Amino acid sequence: MSNKTHRDQEQFRNAALDYHRNEPKGKIEVIPSKPHSSQRDLSLAYSPGVAEPCLEIEKNPSSIYEYTTKGNLVAVISNGTAVLGLGDIGAEASKPVMEGKGLLFKIFADINVFDIEINEKDPDKFIEIVKGISPTFGGINLEDIKAPEAFYIEQRLKEELNIPLMHDDQHGTAIISAAALINALELADKKIDEVKMVVNGAGAAAIACTKLYIALGLKKENVMMCDSKGVINHKRENLTPEKLDFIAQTDISTLEQALEGADVFVGLSKGDVMTAKMLSSMAENPVVFALANPTPEIDYNLAIATRPDVIMATGRSDFPNQVNNVLGFPYIFRGALDVQATGINEEMKLAAVKAIAELAKEPVPEMVKLAYNVKNIGFGREYFIPKPFDNRLLTKVSIAVAKAAMESGISRKPIADFEEYENQLLD
Ligand code: NAP
Ligand code: MG
Repeated sequence: MSNKTHRDQEQFRNAALDYHRNEPKGKIEVIPSKPHSSQRDLSLAYSPGVAEPCLEIEKNPSSIYEYTTKGNLVAVISNGTAVLGLGDIGAEASKPVMEGKGLLFKIFADINVFDIEINEKDPDKFIEIVKGISPTFGGINLEDIKAPEAFYIEQRLKEELNIPLMHDDQHGTAIISAAALINALELADKKIDEVKMVVNGAGAAAIACTKLYIALGLKKENVMMCDSKGVINHKRENLTPEKLDFIAQTDISTLEQALEGADVFVGLSKGDVMTAKMLSSMAENPVVFALANPTPEIDYNLAIATRPDVIMATGRSDFPNQVNNVLGFPYIFRGALDVQATGINEEMKLAAVKAIAELAKEPVPEMVKLAYNVKNIGFGREYFIPKPFDNRLLTKVSIAVAKAAMESGISRKPIADFEEYENQLLD
């Protein structure tokens, strides 16, 4: 590494530490939302006035949404077992990430968050703790919990709770990358039900992504999934149930062989595992989503230099087409909370996919161009996913998700007037 790069990294590291330790420490705070300056205000806010809403909620539990913050409060919950790409660093070390997620929920969708770091690795005990604290929240965002435990934890909590709940590392990634896939295939002039796909990685993100692509029309028999030991085929032993579900009927066992002639590569694994030679062997207009963070499976510049016809996305903000969950989770929860959905179902996820994909095809507003310091961007190879600072995401995605919840019959508080709702979102 050159001295300059090293110095830049050191400076960035210090900036990040200062950002977090400057007063007030951390990234979020609690602010009272009601008047509290007089004796009377306090007697309403607390004893004796507070007893009135307590009694109302006791009589009618659903009125908790009327009298408390529940309906706009999401728990971001982790046990710190799979934090970013850092691995099992523990509950305490995960707190900056969970606070950060709280900040994103607030700035993009005005949702309040309590970040909750739980020191518990046993899935059953973890589930009991989350269930125990669930009355506080209108929704739950599970975060950075390691696979395969994450699959079981999410599935049981979905079944046993009746509020919107999503493991973002699985479904957030699946939703954004699926939107990107629809648009990338359009640019490649290929059909989802015909393409051959190689998924590198078989963890939380890869499994959820592949399932959602299949829901969108990808043929399971056209998928080859690889983990750290190579292609998941019929020769493999001791596979988890999730991997068993993706056994490919082939003798091919390496990523290199699997990629020959493939139309799509989706990497949710490790940095730099795809070589230029492998990319060269893919079909024309290859779609390459190298999503490992912070180092993609193949470097963006190397990929473009190797294959000028590549249609590429990464997880990084310094290259075109960033697959970033922030395009989804704030608005998916916004829509789900606003109709008091009893969960986040497939219909809602697919609605979010469609809304995000369609937004990338609309003309880009000046405000967005200014935010990214670009003169001309429009739908094409360098722009097929919306940018995080595109404020149209709030209305487009939230409304699509709210409507899907209503249409699929899991909304407890349907929205009557969507024009009014849209104005409310923009306020
Ligand atoms: P995970 O649950 O730990 O899964 C990692 C998977 O990668 C495992 O299946 C592992 O194989 C596999 N793997 C490791 N080295 C490999 C190699 N050399 N070749 C093929 N597969 C290999 O992690 P995750 O949450 O799914 O995340 C995986 C990666 O995707 C991380 O880099 C993460 O940063 C990135 N990601 C990016 C986004 C985004 O939006 N850009 C979103 C989510 C995740 P074994 O099963 O054999 O251990
Ligand atoms: Mg995460």
